[in-house]
Amino acid sequence: MLTIEQALARVLAHIPPNGAERASLAEAHGRVLAEDVVSPGELPPWPASAMDGFAVRAADVPGELVILETVAAGGVPRHRVTPGHATRIMTGAPVPDGADAVLMVEDSEPAGPDRVRLGGGATSGQHIRPQGSEVPRGAPVLSRGRTLGAGAIGVLAAVGIPAVQVAVRPKVGILSTGDELVEPGSPLGPGQIHSSNGHALAALVREAGAHPVDLGSIRDDPAALAAAFRAALRCDVVVSTGGVSVGDYDHVKDVLGELGITMDFWRVAMKPGKPLAYGVLGGTPIFGLPGNPVSCMVNFYQFVRPVLRSMLGDPTPFLPVIQAELVGRTRRRPGRPEFIRVRLFREGDVVRAEVAGHQGSAGVLSMADAHGFALLPEGATEIAGTVAVQVFDPNFQSGKDAGYRWSAP
Ligand code: AMP
Ligand code: MG
Repeated sequence: MLTIEQALARVLAHIPPNGAERASLAEAHGRVLAEDVVSPGELPPWPASAMDGFAVRAADVPGELVILETVAAGGVPRHRVTPGHATRIMTGAPVPDGADAVLMVEDSEPAGPDRVRLGGGATSGQHIRPQGSEVPRGAPVLSRGRTLGAGAIGVLAAVGIPAVQVAVRPKVGILSTGDELVEPGSPLGPGQIHSSNGHALAALVREAGAHPVDLGSIRDDPAALAAAFRAALRCDVVVSTGGVSVGDYDHVKDVLGELGITMDFWRVAMKPGKPLAYGVLGGTPIFGLPGNPVSCMVNFYQFVRPVLRSMLGDPTPFLPVIQAELVGRTRRRPGRPEFIRVRLFREGDVVRAEVAGHQGSAGVLSMADAHGFALLPEGATEIAGTVAVQVFDPNFQSGKDAGYRWSAP
C-alpha cells in the first residue's frame, strides 16, 4: 500500500501544461492570475485631499484666511495658495500648488463672504494623500498564481488595468459508473439510487477553479466504459467514480488497462478512500475514484484538487491546515490514517473542531456539515486535544497552505 504522500508525489509528477487567456475584470473574478502585474500609473495620480475642508499653508493656521476658489473632485485648481489664502476643497480633489495641509471643514467657521476662520493648528502634509503614495508607478501590485478576489479586482481597476491574463480553466471530464445510478429528478426503480458523485465532483471541480464536463453515468459494461473513457480524453483531466474496487462489476481498471494506459492501481493507506486508479494517456491524467460518496470526495481533495490547482499555477495547491482543539475525544480501531470530518467553530481566540455526523464512507451528510478533515494518524486509537485540520470549506479558510504534511501536534 502507498502512503498518501507517496501517491501524491506520483500524481504531482505529471502536471499537464495549461495555457493563459485574457479576461476582463468581470471575467477575471475568481480566476488565477497568469502574469505579474505592475502598476502602469501612480495612485493617487496627483496630491489628493482626504477630507472636505480647506487647503492651506500649515504656517497660516490658526488664522483668518481669504478663500480663493472651490475645487471639487474632478475639478482642477486655478490658483496657487499664497500666504493668507485658502482654497475650499472636497475629498478626492487635487490639492492646489502652494498648499501643504488640508483642514477639516469641522475646524472652520465662516468669517464673512469669501473669508474663513481656521482654528487649532495644522501640520504640514495633514489630510493630503501624496502623489503615488498608495501605489508608485511601476510597483508590483499582484503576482502570478494568486486567485483574484474582490480586493484584487478593485486594485486592478484602481491602477487602470481593464483586463489581465488568467490561467485557462482546465476541462475536467466527469464519468459516473454504475448500473444502479439514476439522475436526481427521475423516480427510483428497484435497486436504484440517485447519482450524487457526478454532481458533487462538478461542484468540487468548480470550487477548484476548473471547468467540469459532465460525461454522464455509464453502465457497468466494459464496452460502454471503454467508449466513454475514450471520448473523455478530449478533456484535460478525467475523473471517474465507482467500479475501481474488487467486485465482480468493477471494470474500470481493466478497461483503462485495455485502452493502453500505464495504469497504477493503488491501494492508498487512507480511510475512507482506499482504492484509487491513476494513469496518464496521451498526456491526460485519469483518476478512477471510489464510488462511495465520502471516499470519492476525500480522494478528490487529496489527489485531484492539487493537480488542478498546480495546472492553474497556484503556488500553494494544497488545502490549508490549521490547528484546532477537538471537542471531546474520538476513539477508533487502529489502522490506516483516517480523515475525520469535523465542523469548525470559534470560541474566543480558539478554533474548535467537532466531529460531524456519521463517519461511514457513505455518510454524505457529514460532508455537508463539515468544514474540514481532522487526521487520525496511522495506528492511533484516538484523537483528542490539539488536532491538525485540513480545511476544505472556503467559508472557514483561516489558515495558510501548509503543504501536504500532516504533523501530529
Ligand atoms: P463502487 O465503487 O462502484 O463499488 O460503489 C461503491 C458504493 O458507492 C456503492 O454503494 C454504489 O452504489 C455507490 N456509488 C457509486 N457511484 C455512485 C454515485 N455516482 N453516486 C452515489 N453513489 C454511488
Ligand atoms: Mg459500482
